[in-house]
Amino acid sequence: MTSAFKGNKSTLPSKPCVVCGRPMAWRKAWARDWEHVKYCSERCRRAAKTEDSHA
Ligand SMILES: [Zn+2]
Repeated sequence: MTSAFKGNKSTLPSKPCVVCGRPMAWRKAWARDWEHVKYCSERCRRAAKTEDSHA
């Protein structure tokens, strides 16, 4: 018997956007600064800055 457990897909890391909370899937483009990626999109990035300087 061979314990063939091939149902294990290589799960990419993901984390929620700090603005909208949507899960962001790891992207190759983010490989270098995945730790620093906080926003799922440019829109959220701007939203975060706007919100920050709004108060
Ligand atoms: Zn977002």
